[in-house]
Amino acid sequence: MSLIDDLSASDLAARRAEVQAKYDAFRAKGLKLDMTRGKPASDQLDLSNALLALPGEGDFKAASGEDVRNYGNLQGLAEARALFAPILGAAPENIVVGGNSSLALMHDTLVDALVKGAPGSPRPWGKDEEVVFLCPSPGYDRHFAICEEYGIRMIPVRLTGHGPDMDEVERLVADPAVKGMWCVPKYSNPTGEIYSDETVRRLAAMKTGAPDFRLFWDNAYCVHHLTPARHGLADVLAACAGAGAPDRAFVFASTSKITLAGAGLAFFASSPANVKWRLASMGRSTIGSDKVNQLRHARFLRDVAGIEALMDRHRALIAPKFEAVIDAFERHLSGTGAARWSAPEGGYFISVDAAPGTAKRVVELAKEAGVALTPAGATYPLGRDPQDRNLRIAPTVPGLAEVRAASEGVAICILLAAIEARGTQLAGKAA
Ligand code: PLP
Repeated sequence: MSLIDDLSASDLAARRAEVQAKYDAFRAKGLKLDMTRGKPASDQLDLSNALLALPGEGDFKAASGEDVRNYGNLQGLAEARALFAPILGAAPENIVVGGNSSLALMHDTLVDALVKGAPGSPRPWGKDEEVVFLCPSPGYDRHFAICEEYGIRMIPVRLTGHGPDMDEVERLVADPAVKGMWCVPKYSNPTGEIYSDETVRRLAAMKTGAPDFRLFWDNAYCVHHLTPARHGLADVLAACAGAGAPDRAFVFASTSKITLAGAGLAFFASSPANVKWRLASMGRSTIGSDKVNQLRHARFLRDVAGIEALMDRHRALIAPKFEAVIDAFERHLSGTGAARWSAPEGGYFISVDAAPGTAKRVVELAKEAGVALTPAGATYPLGRDPQDRNLRIAPTVPGLAEVRAASEGVAICILLAAIEARGTQLAGKAA
């Protein structure tokens, strides 16, 4: 296939007619498909149904002897903390199990820093004239929504394929108003990239203007591999401690996409000072999290090998869906210059950079053809993609046949939008 930009006006018109016909045929099928939701499909949730029968009647005692049905143990059961310790890179005593949502932990941690300050803060962040966060983009819309909610100014930072542009990050963090940075360091949402060892080292060692700067290290996809290669990630807590900044990283993770998305376990891991600070704050809002759920997770998952075996079963269900999307993109878009897309080795998303200025149009075309896509711009702070080109494809929820059909349609929409945009450009030049 030839590059759209290389086509003459008449060849472009012919190509447009051909792709428009494909689009019309796709639309005529009257499908109703949804590629917006980064959630596990029901068959994935079924993998953890055995959890619901645990711990079982008359079996309510944790290893410590405590009755998990009762109040108490704010930090969470030792066995649940030990289970995740190797994954989080933290000793069990530096881990808190808090509720079912890591996003809620991130939200509350940030609000606590705004209202009370974090360890090492000269004053609460909210007392400063301005609080700024660095936002590697494209990124996770719910991180950006938290900042938006509390008036935190967001600075997008380009991603390189192995983490954020560190020269830019190092330059920006010299400003004392920059208090934090969102990081999804492994199989990032949506680009799928993994922060390199060098990126992690520089994040840990960089000189920050704010003495209480924090990395919000959202390791949401820590064990969520899409290939047999179980990629690792440098240990950020060890790197920070080694660089003399032991309190720099707040690490978050959850079992939302390991067991049950609405009823898993969420984790916070950090330095002893940060853990003490978090627990003091949590103790004002709860007497303890759901230890019954912690016990059943510890019994069900057992150890890291148990988690990996379960994740292999997830992979068997969802990897073919990712392959179907990439296959459709390759067939329709390779060699056209109309888009670039990620081929993630883990996580829940495929990130597509369509032709500049066409992402909104692609979403519109897809909607008219019955395929719901995440709104264009959602992957950037304030919903503003400066180039209007990034699209986030979430293929896990629909069945494989539906993913195949939807990706076919989306690829055609991307191509049609690129041809339309090129047509407008050529018309502008001719005028
Ligand atoms: N962090 C990232 C990067 C995510 O993509 C998601 C869900 O899509 C979450 C956090 C939500 O995590 P939890 O279910 O633990 O609140």
